[in-house]
Amino acid sequence: MKDLTHSLSLLTGLRDREALEDALVDLVFRCLGPPVQAVRLFRVVVEGARDRCMPVLERRAADTESRRMEPNPLPGELAVLDTQPLLNQAFSTGTTQSYAGPSGAPWTCCLPLLEGVPMLLEVVLSNAPLAADVAWLEDLFRVYGNVVSLLDYGEKDSLTELLNRKTFDVAFIKAAAGLKHASHKTLDQERRHSAHQRGAWLAVLDIDHFKRVNDTCGHLIGDEVLLLVARLMRSCSRYSDLLYRFGGEEFVILMRCDSETDALSAMERLRRTIESHRFPQVGTITASIGLTEVFHNDIPSEAFGRADEAVYYAKSHGRNQLHSYQRLVAEGGLVAQVKEGMVVDLF
Ligand code: GH3
Ligand code: MG
Ligand code: MG
Repeated sequence: MKDLTHSLSLLTGLRDREALEDALVDLVFRCLGPPVQAVRLFRVVVEGARDRCMPVLERRAADTESRRMEPNPLPGELAVLDTQPLLNQAFSTGTTQSYAGPSGAPWTCCLPLLEGVPMLLEVVLSNAPLAADVAWLEDLFRVYGNVVSLLDYGEKDSLTELLNRKTFDVAFIKAAAGLKHASHKTLDQERRHSAHQRGAWLAVLDIDHFKRVNDTCGHLIGDEVLLLVARLMRSCSRYSDLLYRFGGEEFVILMRCDSETDALSAMERLRRTIESHRFPQVGTITASIGLTEVFHNDIPSEAFGRADEAVYYAKSHGRNQLHSYQRLVAEGGLVAQVKEGMVVDLF
């Protein structure tokens, strides 16, 4: 069943990125059959002089399903691509590379995808692949890339390439549904979750006095600042963090963390990174950040409202600050939002 039309109909019907990655790997096994020993999918992080490589998904012949790769590093902690010669060569030449190990060892085939978010597909086979199989793999990977580009087009902000707010509610509801019910927590929220019981936090970031940047340097330079802030956000974030531009100079981060302390330190690192960055023609800028914990079956607009209240608190207390909504409520700086008929079990 090496029918590309069938593969096309499967891949192009999917709208969920993880399901799309699973389907790609699954199709390689189903269509190339027993010679396939393993399939791995990598994301390439283009970062100045040293490109880095992040394993996304792996499936071996004996596995019943693909395995998502953990842990979840910061961009600077990823393996440098030039330590992986075959992947590196495929990426730098933009062409499929095949390598036969010493006699009897498997063949490895590496395919690059350079448009949009660059990726690499590694297929390990027990014998040399036919030219037609390699051509089929290249077509399949290109179709996958085209579907991802279409999803990106609808879901990403065109200036910063962060997610736009259209996809926020669905991602938030999915994250909130997977959380454990809030139990009585200690005030400092130092409880540690096991890997599958991690909590979720939502941050709203608003650039301080951004209107002044436009007024003094012009709208184009203002746009460049927004783009650079988005890059700083990405460089400070883990790959599982979801980064959004909500509009204007307002950004949102949805992240999984073990504790409020971890979420606060990630956001403090971002606040400091922005504060110490030198923006061409503008110099320095600052941002105010509000953070809230996300609860089991939380409502997107309510969680956003809580984080936004913490932003307003920062704005009215000198800007360039990070505040947690829950801490502000506990310390009396804010009054908790309680909706009629709704039980809020924050602490
Ligand atoms: P504050 O510290 O209180 O947040 O002040 P601010 O000036 O950042 O906030 P305000 O809401 O008064 O102004 C936001 C400005 O952001 C006004 C608008 O011109 C600018 N803006 C919104 N979207 C864009 C954009 O896409 N590009 C550029 N260059 N500017 C934008
Ligand atoms: Mg602002
Ligand atoms: Mg604003």
